[in-house]
Amino acid sequence: MTWRHGTLHGYNHYQCRCPDCRQAVRDHNRTYQARIHTQLATNPDHPAHATLHGYNCGCRCQSCVATKSAYDRRRRANRTLCLNDVTHPPAETENR
Ligand SMILES: [Zn+2]
Ligand SMILES: [Zn+2]
Repeated sequence: MTWRHGTLHGYNHYQCRCPDCRQAVRDHNRTYQARIHTQLATNPDHPAHATLHGYNCGCRCQSCVATKSAYDRRRRANRTLCLNDVTHPPAETENR
């Protein structure tokens, strides 16, 4: 089974985690998140508001921030469960 590395297809479909495929995903996410971010900034009724997705795309409106902190609280509460989950992949995208 072969596929072209450095494509989203390899990453998503074949779960390839080679540097090329990971880079493709990073590039894709950056472009995608920037687009959503623009939409969120210009449209207060955008459905991605008040979601983790909206926050991850860079929206810092009150609803998105509130959703994010609720999520963090939940995650902290579940930490002991997560420690046992060895299939948990490392975080791929970090907002800098
Ligand atoms: Zn690959
Ligand atoms: Zn928002």
